Amino acid sequence: MPLSNHTTRPQRMSRRATTLLAAVLLACIALGHEGRRVAQLALLAAPMLVWLAWPVHSAGVHRTRTAAVWLWAVAFALDGIVRGYLQHTYQAAPEGALVLGSAANSNARESAEYFSTQWRTMALWAALALGFSVLAGWCAMHGARRPADSPQAGQSRWVLAMACVLLLACTLGYASKPWRRLHPVLFWPNWVQSLQTLRGQWSDQQHTRDRALQRAQAAAPTLTQTGPATVVLVITDSINRDNLALYGYGRPTTPQLLAQQAQLGNQMLVLRNAWSVDASTLPAMRNMLNFGQPESDDPLHLLALARAAGYKVWWISNHDDMAIEQKHGRLADVVDMVNRTPGRASASLDSELLDCVQEALQDPAERKLVVVHLMGAHPHYSLRFPDGANPFQGSKDGVETDLIQAGRSAWVRKFRREYDAAVLYHDSIVAELLQMTRDTGAPQTYRAWMYLSDHGQEVGHVNDYAGHSPSTPAGYRIPAIIWRNQPPTPPSADLATRPFRADWAAWTLADLLNIQWTGQTLSRDVLAPGYQWQAPVLPVEVGSFAD
Ligand SMILES: [Zn+2]
Repeated sequence: MPLSNHTTRPQRMSRRATTLLAAVLLACIALGHEGRRVAQLALLAAPMLVWLAWPVHSAGVHRTRTAAVWLWAVAFALDGIVRGYLQHTYQAAPEGALVLGSAANSNARESAEYFSTQWRTMALWAALALGFSVLAGWCAMHGARRPADSPQAGQSRWVLAMACVLLLACTLGYASKPWRRLHPVLFWPNWVQSLQTLRGQWSDQQHTRDRALQRAQAAAPTLTQTGPATVVLVITDSINRDNLALYGYGRPTTPQLLAQQAQLGNQMLVLRNAWSVDASTLPAMRNMLNFGQPESDDPLHLLALARAAGYKVWWISNHDDMAIEQKHGRLADVVDMVNRTPGRASASLDSELLDCVQEALQDPAERKLVVVHLMGAHPHYSLRFPDGANPFQGSKDGVETDLIQAGRSAWVRKFRREYDAAVLYHDSIVAELLQMTRDTGAPQTYRAWMYLSDHGQEVGHVNDYAGHSPSTPAGYRIPAIIWRNQPPTPPSADLATRPFRADWAAWTLADLLNIQWTGQTLSRDVLAPGYQWQAPVLPVEVGSFAD
């Protein structure tokens, strides 16, 4: 459509610049939004493009317009690119619980660790953003100009009519509040506000904890076994069972647990088919400790229930995590946040917890529940084992060969070696915790121990990617191990192959604690004779849960 009958070179140039900016901006918007949203965002972005196409005379106005159009376009593009990154990496929107929860719950050290793990992926997206900014700058500088001597070199009626219709549609967009709120300049400050609100909600959960304790009292739990009891629950982070030699992995990552198994035989119940139903820490912990029941149902909390039944409860954690401490940890009688000091990443190895656990085990209380929350193999993997303790460095073993054959990049293979070194170090901690539980108290006193991971981890298992993974089964494949010195009869053989889901773990823990109450769902206790498996609904297709 001609802007005028005789176009000059600068006019053609400015038209090209406007068209190019519109096209590239639309592509950025489409990266981060879907369907109708793309059109809505495009209309919100349109006014500045109309201005860019509108011939201006004054050099001052031109300069102002260049700056305004550039800032405007970059805001929309960054919005699309950040959303595109989150969608691509986590299949999640910025305002969703996963991203909002993780962002609100990260301290400076965790953020730094996150960047050091994800910088390659992020660098690609950042390059995209940079490329766009440069291009947008060039386009903004080449907006339509009107020479001083041709006051009438204006617009055809068609163009004027089009511009009017477009601006009218934009006005409608800006008039609608839910639509307007999508504008990056409004959306992101609101998003930061939501983070602060969430942090505020977490900062004092005393009221919620009091209610959880009342709720547990009302359930009137009783004990089915008299005498002293010690139960240790080890919750770890980001361990994928496929990387444990105990589960058949090709690298010798679990010599200590295998040694325990050799001693204990069937008494050490290794649940071969264990699954988490969440791929990130916060929802996984909530589900695990709240009996897998939704918040709206006012669910029981395992720690509150144990206290109501007469247990003294410890929460010993290597996580510096406000939400988990407030929602779960502070329900315990004794809270040890060992990794409280931010910035001591190198000293935050899980061995730091062992002394605290030993102290708890020596406490004279008759009934004890000791919950240990490990860092496990949470990214960044290389920080999860002592310096130099990576025997898989430079090894050309079967695992490496398989990864090369599957087309995994060099950096994902390097992450896999670091991840396996973290699992190897983790093995020594987990086996030590089991040994400590076995050694505590008089030989005949009741002791039980359960170990599981909050979720799995993708380290080149399915994708050429390393990290939390809601979209691949690797994000949900966890180890789960149970030991108890009573009942002395070895567990039946089929127990180990029963599929197990971590959101039901509290039902099994209640069994290990010998707690009984009305409303107990024994069909969800993997140790119970009447266990009834129900496959969870995961955001990813799982071929078989018996695998
Ligand atoms: Zn986690």
